[in-house]
Amino acid sequence: MQVPFSFLAEQFRDPSPVLESIRELVKKGDFTLGKALERFEATFASYCGASHAVGVGSGTDALFLSLVAAGVRPGDEVITSANTFVATAGAIVQAGARPVFVDVDDDLNIDPSSIENAITQRTTALIPVHWAGRPADLAKVALIARKHGLILIEDACQALGGKIEGQSVGTFGIAGAFSLHPIKPLHVWGDGGVIVTQSSELAQKLRLLRNHGLDGRDVVRCFAYNSRMDSLQAVVGNCLFESLETTIHRRIDRALRYYEALGRDALADKVQFPAERKTDRNVFHLFQLRVKNRDLLLRHLHENGIEAKVHYPIPLHLQPAASYLGYRKGDFPRAEELSEGSITLPCHQYLSDEQLEYVAEQIFRFYL
Ligand SMILES: *Cc1c(COP(=O)(O)O)cnc(C)c1O
Repeated sequence: MQVPFSFLAEQFRDPSPVLESIRELVKKGDFTLGKALERFEATFASYCGASHAVGVGSGTDALFLSLVAAGVRPGDEVITSANTFVATAGAIVQAGARPVFVDVDDDLNIDPSSIENAITQRTTALIPVHWAGRPADLAKVALIARKHGLILIEDACQALGGKIEGQSVGTFGIAGAFSLHPIKPLHVWGDGGVIVTQSSELAQKLRLLRNHGLDGRDVVRCFAYNSRMDSLQAVVGNCLFESLETTIHRRIDRALRYYEALGRDALADKVQFPAERKTDRNVFHLFQLRVKNRDLLLRHLHENGIEAKVHYPIPLHLQPAASYLGYRKGDFPRAEELSEGSITLPCHQYLSDEQLEYVAEQIFRFYL
C-alpha cells in the first residue's frame, strides 16, 4: 500500500470550479488588489473574528511586514521558538533584527517559562509559533508580552482554524501571520499570505507597505515593498474557503484515529504524543510524534510505502545560516531532541481508514 504525505493531487482531481472562477477574473482583467482580494480578505477576517485581514505575497512577508509595521527596527532582538520553520527567523532578519530562540515545552511550542530569561534591553517583539497547528500557550505568552511591553505577533502560518478557548489564533497580539502555501490549511496555487489585526492603524500601514507606500494612485506615503496577494490567488482562496471547515474536521478526525490506534499500552514507551490543552482546537497541520529509534522507524515506513517525514533533521539554531548568532549544540535540548527523535506521519483529509490502519500496523510491526 502507498501512503503519500501530500493531498494535493487528490484535492485538485477536478479543478474545474476553480478554473471557471479564474476564467471570470481573466475576462475582467482585475488582476491586482481587486474585488476578488477584497472578498477574500473580508472572508478571512470574519473567519478569524478579526477586524482586518490584509493579503500579501507569502506567509514570510506576512511576518516581515507585521514586524516592520508594528515598529521593529534594525538592531532589535525578537524572541521566537527554537522549533519553527526557517521563515520565522528569516522574516526577523529581513526586518534587520536579531532572532533570539527559546526552547519548546511538551506541546512542541515555545516554553513560556523560558521566555523571560531571553529578554534583554534590546528585545522589542515576541513571535510565538502555533507549531503543527497546535495553539501555543498564548494566555501565558501574552501576559509576558504585556508585562515587558513587547510587540506580540503570532506566527499562525500552520494554524488557520486553530482556537484557544474559542478565540482564533492570530488574534491575541497586534498581528497574526498566516501562510497560503500549498501545504498549509487553507492554500492557493502558489504563494500567498495574510495578516489579521484588530488595529485599523496597523491595517492601514500594512496596506501601504505591501503596495509601494502608495496612497491612491499618485501619493507615496513611504518607500516600501511590493508584496500584494495576487487576485488570481484570491480567487483560488475564495473557492477553497468553502471546504475549509470540512477539511479541518476531517483532519482532526484522522488525528484522533491515530491517537486511538497508536495510544495502546504496548507502545507506551516507544511512541509519545505532544501535550494537548483540552480548551484548544488543534487543527493538526502536522501529525508529529516523538518515537524511539526514529531513523530505523523512518526507514521501515519508507520501505513499506509510507511517506513519513522529519520536521526538521537540523534544528534552526544549528543551521549554517544561524552560526553568527553563536548558538551551540545543547542550548535547546528539547528542540534538538525533536530533530533527533520525532517523526511526522501522513495525516490529511484524504487519508483513508485503510491507509491509517496500515500505518499503525507498520509501526506495531516495527516495535513489537
Ligand atoms: C510556512 C510557514 C511560514 C512561511 O510561509 P510562506 O508562505 O511559505 O512564506 C512561516 N512560518 C511557519 C511556521 C510556516 O510553517
